[in-house]
Amino acid sequence: MNAAPILQVEDIAVTYSQLIPALRGVSLTVPSGAIVALLGGNGAGKTTTLKTVSNLIRAERGELTSGRIAYRGEAITDADPWTLAERGLVQVLEGRRCFAHLSVEENLRLGAFARRPSRADLDVELERIYGIFPRLKERRKTLAGYTSGGEQQMIAIGRALMARPALILLDEPSMGLAPQVVEEIFETVAALNRDDGVSFLLAEQNAAIALRYANFGYVLESGRVVGKGNAQTLLELGTLREAYLGSGQPGVDGTPRRSRRL
Ligand code: ATP
Repeated sequence: MNAAPILQVEDIAVTYSQLIPALRGVSLTVPSGAIVALLGGNGAGKTTTLKTVSNLIRAERGELTSGRIAYRGEAITDADPWTLAERGLVQVLEGRRCFAHLSVEENLRLGAFARRPSRADLDVELERIYGIFPRLKERRKTLAGYTSGGEQQMIAIGRALMARPALILLDEPSMGLAPQVVEEIFETVAALNRDDGVSFLLAEQNAAIALRYANFGYVLESGRVVGKGNAQTLLELGTLREAYLGSGQPGVDGTPRRSRRL
């Protein structure tokens, strides 16, 4: 792992619609070549953090009111999402957004758009993605809307990979998926990290699985970082238990209660 961080978020504050504070002084670092987990319950600010980095919050009337974000050492606060994708920073949105009326392959092709590849280059890239997700090759002609939740998550990640990213912001990859499929998705993340050196900042409510794969984790609560460390430190400190369930309640079993607002 290189020493220089691929992403540095320094003391950012974000407000929606000029009055709803969502983040209050969040700082985090993704070392180059690392998998970093962003943990916390419903509404803690995970998605907002990712969308602030990729500059997608503006579309939701969100605004970065203070702080600084650097990607590969350069400030990216004003960079638009397309430029960031060209530079290797891409987000996989929560809820595995696919174009339901397009085929699996058409969805994947869209991911390469920012790179403007030649046809031959695009075909090579598609084969690479099919090597990573053989199931998508079998279903290449199927409309994405008719594929399973796990396959849609693979499409969403595959589409991001078509941009040849150095850093993927992955939002809740486990959401709504069966445990076995979640395991498969995380194994793919680990392989991309190990074999291709892709760095990940992944937001997860499922702390148990995220911390099995991440090198480091940050715990968010009400828009603030309330804990950070490696898996063992976070679990030992009990920070996760408090952030997910409220102080004094026992046990984090890896299936935090989605209905609870912190
Ligand atoms: P979840 O797992 O539910 O997505 P999260 O940790 O990703 O939770 P965010 O979605 O970032 O949390 O939400 C942080 C806070 O910002 C919450 O209080 C939420 O209600 C608020 N929020 C999020 N999106 C918007 C928006 N578009 N407009 C106004 N407030 C928003």
